Amino acid sequence: MDLNLQDKVIIVTGGTRGIGGAISRSLSLEGAIPVFVGRNKEGGEVLERELNSKNQKGIYIEGDLNKEGECRGIVEEVINKLGKIDALVNNAGVNDNVGLESGTPEEFKISLFNNVNHYYEMTHYCLPFLKTTKGNILNISSKVALSGQGGTSGYAAAKGAQLALTREWAAELLSYGIRVNAILPAEVMTPLYKSWLDSFEDPAEKRKKIETKIPLGNRMTTDMEIAATALFIISSRSSHTTGQFIIPDGGYIHLDRSLT
Ligand code: NAP
Repeated sequence: MDLNLQDKVIIVTGGTRGIGGAISRSLSLEGAIPVFVGRNKEGGEVLERELNSKNQKGIYIEGDLNKEGECRGIVEEVINKLGKIDALVNNAGVNDNVGLESGTPEEFKISLFNNVNHYYEMTHYCLPFLKTTKGNILNISSKVALSGQGGTSGYAAAKGAQLALTREWAAELLSYGIRVNAILPAEVMTPLYKSWLDSFEDPAEKRKKIETKIPLGNRMTTDMEIAATALFIISSRSSHTTGQFIIPDGGYIHLDRSLT
């Protein structure tokens, strides 16, 4: 199936590694032009060189999405360099373990801000350009929004807010033909996931315990499986899908617990 992504300009926040990195690589393989945003200049430039050396497209833009004025600047840079925006993937996030007992009200505010504010800002500044292209928006949320995790109030609140905004924006943008959807990953090995796993006394044991509870194949979802779902949702092949929460997790969240 041709996803018709050739030469589509798609911003992927946090698109240099982890799930975002897999989405950038997969887009580039389809002939799209992923614009991957991140703070780590070296990581971004390595990915850009990797893609370009294979004659694939993709550009890195350095930016800290939580800094005042950066989201606006990133969107301006994309327009100056590429002239259009076909889709926005809001993906950057940090599970920072600011819990009810482990955190403070001040830390909660910062965690919530860091995980949800740039989803709004990036969408706000991309909107005039998405109207022109009849583009679409994909929010990467988390199963934590549905299941909780414990010890991570700020992140959980932000992930829940991203789902509410997915429905809110899908409603607000209907008249422009702009689709808005969300993917909720559950257990995907990435640098973020590894650092969470490493916070346990026996990370290998913890991983095994989680994997035995994933019904389909007793294994984690791969970043490329999330990316494949993301590409289909972004593509015009999903032209009548909006306001949806998609959960590619091997049945982890919804299947009968007696199965594992
Ligand atoms: P990751 O491996 O830590 O990658 C996160 C990316 O976001 C990095 O490229 C990082 O780049 C970027 N980033 C973070 N804060 C940023 C900021 N302020 N400004 C610019 N870039 C920033 O994380 P991941 O596991 O791939 O997670 C990606 C998304 O999936 C997140 O929204 C996460 O909540 C969600 N998710 C993941 C899992 C999982 O199992 N892995 C499960 C549920 C949900 P720099 O460090 O270079 O800035």
